[in-house]
Amino acid sequence: MPQRAATIVGGGIGGLATAIALHRRGWHVEVLERAPEFTEVGAGISLWPNALHALEVLGLADDVRALGAVETGGGVRDRRGRRLSRTDNAELTRRFGHPLLVLHRADLLRVLTDALPADSLRPGSEVTAVRDDGRDLVVEHRGGQSRPDLVVGADGLRSAVRRALWPDAAGPRYAGYTAWRMVTAPLAEPPPEGAAIWGRGERFGYTALPGGRMYCFATASLPPAGAASGPSEHAREHAELLRRFGSWPDPVPALLAAVPPDAVLRHDLYDLPPLPSFAHGRAALLGDAAHAMTPNLGQGACQALEDAVTLAHCLDGAPDVAAALRSYDLLRRPRTQAVTRRSARLGAIGQLAWPPAVLLRDTAARLTPTWVMLRSMTPVLGWTPPADARPVGPVTE
Ligand SMILES: Cc1cc2nc3c(=O)[nH]c(=O)nc-3n(C[C@H](O)[C@H](O)[C@H](O)COP(=O)(O)OP(=O)(O)OC[C@H]3O[C@@H](n4cnc5c(N)ncnc54)[C@H](O)[C@@H]3O)c2cc1C
Repeated sequence: MPQRAATIVGGGIGGLATAIALHRRGWHVEVLERAPEFTEVGAGISLWPNALHALEVLGLADDVRALGAVETGGGVRDRRGRRLSRTDNAELTRRFGHPLLVLHRADLLRVLTDALPADSLRPGSEVTAVRDDGRDLVVEHRGGQSRPDLVVGADGLRSAVRRALWPDAAGPRYAGYTAWRMVTAPLAEPPPEGAAIWGRGERFGYTALPGGRMYCFATASLPPAGAASGPSEHAREHAELLRRFGSWPDPVPALLAAVPPDAVLRHDLYDLPPLPSFAHGRAALLGDAAHAMTPNLGQGACQALEDAVTLAHCLDGAPDVAAALRSYDLLRRPRTQAVTRRSARLGAIGQLAWPPAVLLRDTAARLTPTWVMLRSMTPVLGWTPPADARPVGPVTE
């Protein structure tokens, strides 16, 4: 079969992982990224066992593991700091083959970009139109035009590919709460273990990163405010965090004090109503473009990594790209849409604000044994790659 060409729109975690998976299988790939460089926001990311299985297929699990921290304790606490549940990483590893790993997003992105030939990465290439001219799929971008055998829309929540080829698809819907993320400066004495503290309509979480830094995240039920950008807005968000969480149980105040004000990111949280298909002829959607979900399960990027290896598996040796994408759709859509729904449900529980409901929630969490909690996560974490989606050799230039 002659070498086939794929245009991947969007150079986030999903797009880059897809490019690696296809490149390893002999495709010529180009990654068109709108931003002037390939970067990720300054925050941490949790990778669950299912993501590490996908990274194994890409041949990158060891590189990623070397940059991450494995939480030794962790779990959920109530607003007074009392433990409600525990994340048992040893048990997680025993059941699902890997622990929960947390790393800086920039480190993950660097591992992914390093695994691709430099000339496949095309920053500053915003895609402005995608159309099917009857014979070819045409991708118009700042650097010109591409007519590949395959187009992958990995361009996130507000995907241009989705808008072009799925014009009837409903847009993102606001979850009802906003999120802050930040990374502390290195701490002389980081907390011994992380936690997610559930309050009333508010949550605050923290977990270790390598080098004594902590990745912190918080949510609050609020009307959507749009993106915060620029130093004054970051400082305003930092002040808002101090106001909301400054009197929360230790170590929250100390963590907030260790966050540089310009390190505070705020994003309103959205998910995507279910699409009827992730495939359209020789174009496919992947990652947030296909199934943006709230971050309550920490699964958005994990699912994008699963998508990437599954897509490459479906295309492997398949002469008919459109048929392969239909298989990809059947394998990925039910699963990712179920995870999206589950994440939304967990978010609704986490954001409860009515005191009796909060009491009921916290009591139920306290009474649920860890093994029951972990077993209930099997449908999400127990994913393994398609049987023959194993790496075939090292990533080559
Ligand atoms: C607060 C928060 C916490 C989260 N925590 C976790 C977590 O712990 N674990 C986890 O697994 N997931 C987490 N997620 C979800 C995760 O961040 C996303 O699911 C993941 O980043 C999606 O990757 P993606 O590549 O599909 O999309 P994106 O990361 O959105 O990448 C899309 C890329 O496409 C580019 N692009 C957009 N439009 C165009 C265009 N027209 N032309 C060219 N390029 C374009 C963008 O610049 C961007 O680089 C979290 C999300 C949030 C909001």
